[in-house]
Amino acid sequence: MSKSIIDLYFSRKCDVCSTGMEEGYLVGSGAYACSKKCLNDMDNYSHAQFLKDYKEEDEHYYYTNWEQDWEDEETLFLIDGTEVSNPYQNKEYSL
Ligand SMILES: [Zn+2]
Repeated sequence: MSKSIIDLYFSRKCDVCSTGMEEGYLVGSGAYACSKKCLNDMDNYSHAQFLKDYKEEDEHYYYTNWEQDWEDEETLFLIDGTEVSNPYQNKEYSL
């Protein structure tokens, strides 16, 4: 897989360390964490809690990647978490 676009833009950013990310943990359908460490750094949360939630509610708690959504995303993020409008939205692009 080519990394040419992914090197510059990211589909999500980590809510804990604000790093742009293409894959990571979705927590309760609303929060994102890029790593185990960031899960443990969330307020009142931890990687151990994530594993419990994942067992019970895996539609809201899971590890995933988002690169397939790019044509529909309005905004993307840079590596430092800066939000930018998606230059690829509704355009042909190849990964
Ligand atoms: Zn993070």
